[in-house]
Amino acid sequence: MIRYYSTNRRLDGVAGLTPFKGLVSFRDALIQGQAPDEGLFMPDPIPALDLGDIRACKGAPYSSTAVLVAEAFLKDELPRETIRQVVEDSYNFDVPLERVYDRMFVMRLDRGPTASFKDFAARMMARLMSRLRDRGKRLNVLVATSGDTGSAVGEAFKGVEGIGVTILYPRNEVSGMQKKQLDTIGENVLALSVDGKFDDCQNLVKQAFSDSGLAQLNLTSANSINFGRIMPQSIYYVHAYAQLAGPGEEIVFSVPSGNFGNALGCEYARRMGLPVRMLVMPTNENDEFPNYLTTGTYEKVSPSRACLSNAMNVGHPSNLARFFDLYGGTVDRTGVVHAYPDIKEMRKRIFSVSVSDEETKKTIRRVWEQYRVLLEPHGAVGWRGLEHYLEACCGPIAEPCVCLETAHPAKFPDEIVELLRITPEVPQSMKDLEKRTGEAVELPADYGRLRAFLLDTLKGSD
Ligand SMILES: *Cc1c(COP(=O)(O)O)cnc(C)c1O
Repeated sequence: MIRYYSTNRRLDGVAGLTPFKGLVSFRDALIQGQAPDEGLFMPDPIPALDLGDIRACKGAPYSSTAVLVAEAFLKDELPRETIRQVVEDSYNFDVPLERVYDRMFVMRLDRGPTASFKDFAARMMARLMSRLRDRGKRLNVLVATSGDTGSAVGEAFKGVEGIGVTILYPRNEVSGMQKKQLDTIGENVLALSVDGKFDDCQNLVKQAFSDSGLAQLNLTSANSINFGRIMPQSIYYVHAYAQLAGPGEEIVFSVPSGNFGNALGCEYARRMGLPVRMLVMPTNENDEFPNYLTTGTYEKVSPSRACLSNAMNVGHPSNLARFFDLYGGTVDRTGVVHAYPDIKEMRKRIFSVSVSDEETKKTIRRVWEQYRVLLEPHGAVGWRGLEHYLEACCGPIAEPCVCLETAHPAKFPDEIVELLRITPEVPQSMKDLEKRTGEAVELPADYGRLRAFLLDTLKGSD
C-alpha cells in the first residue's frame, strides 16, 4: 500500500515547527494539499512499472499510458474503471512529438485548454478530487493568482461535479488577456477582481483557510505542490519513451524548470523504472539550482530575477524539498538546508544549467532558421539546456533526446514577431476566448468582505 509522508518529518527541534510523522493516503494528500507541518507529501513506496507494459504503449493513444501510470499510484484507492474515466475525461487533446533532426525531439505540451503544460496536471487533479471527495460534500477550491495558474486551474475544474472554484486576482496586475481568461470561465468557476496586489490576494486566501468559521465550506487549495498535480506529470515521460525508444535504449529529457514540479514528474518516472539516461533541468537566470550542483552550497535567489521565460522566475523552487528528500536531504520552505542530499548521486542523474535571456532569444532564432521548429522562451531554455548537456557529456548521442515545450508560442506574440518576423498561429482555444463573455465580482482587499461574500455565495454540500 502506498502511503504519503512529509518532507519535514525529521525536523525535530526546529523552532516553531512540529514535524508531522504520520502517513496518509493519496486521497488525504490530495484533499489536504500539504502536510500539517507545511512539508510536502511524498509517496512511499514509489510504485514500479513493468518495462514490457511501457513498451506495449507504443502506438497507443496517450490515455493508455496515462491509465498505466495512474493505476500504479491509485489502484488501492480507485477502481480501474474510474481511473479510466478520469483519464479519458482529462486528456482530450494531442501530445505531438515533433522531430527536430535525427533523434532529437520537441514534445509539445501546449495543446490543452490554456495552452500550457499545467493543463495536464490540473485537469487530472480536478477530476480526482471530484471522485475522491466525501459523498455529498461540496469542495470549494480557493486560489490566488497573478495570472496563468489561475486560468489553468479554473479551466481544469470547469464543469467538474461537486467542486466550486473561486479565483482571486489583483485588479491592476493582470493583463487584459489574462483578465478575460479569468472572468469568462463561467459555470462553477467564479473570478474575484480584488482592489489590491497579488500579496493581498494571497493573504486573503490564507486567512480564509485558517478561519474555523468557514469550516462548513470545505475550502481546499489546488496548489502546485499538491501531489495530485505531480503524479500526472510523470505520464508524458513514459508516453514519449514508449513512442521513441527501442529495446534496451535509454532516453534523455530536458525540462525547462521553475518550481521543479514538471522535472519531478520525470524523476518519479525514472524511479518507477523508466530508462532515463539523464534528466536535464535548465533554468533561466534564476540559477540557484545549477549553482548548487556546481558548488555544493545552496543559496536561493531573492528577490527572483525577471526573465523572458516568466513562468520560471522562481528563486527558491517549491518542489526542491522533494528532490532533496529523494536524495537524502532536507530543505524547508524558506530555503534553509537542514541536511544536504547525496550530491554525487544527484550529479549522476541530473544536469542543470542556467540559460540567459540573450541565449534564449538566440535559440528561438537559430532553431527556427535551422530547423523551422518554433519555440517560445520556456521551450528555448529547454532546448539550449539540452545542447549544453550534450556538449558537456559526450557530443551527439544515438539515443532519443526530448525537450519539453511547455507553452504555446502564440502566448508570446511580441517576442516571436520581434525575433522571427512571423506571427505564430493562434490555437483554437485562444481564438475562442475572444467570443467569451463574463464579468468578475469586484471586491476590496478586505477580509471581512471576502468572508461575507464566501458565506453568502458558496455551498458546502451538493
Ligand atoms: C509553470 C511553467 C514552467 C515551470 O514548471 P515547473 O513545474 O514550475 O518547473 C515552465 N513553463 C511554463 C510555460 C510554465 O507555465
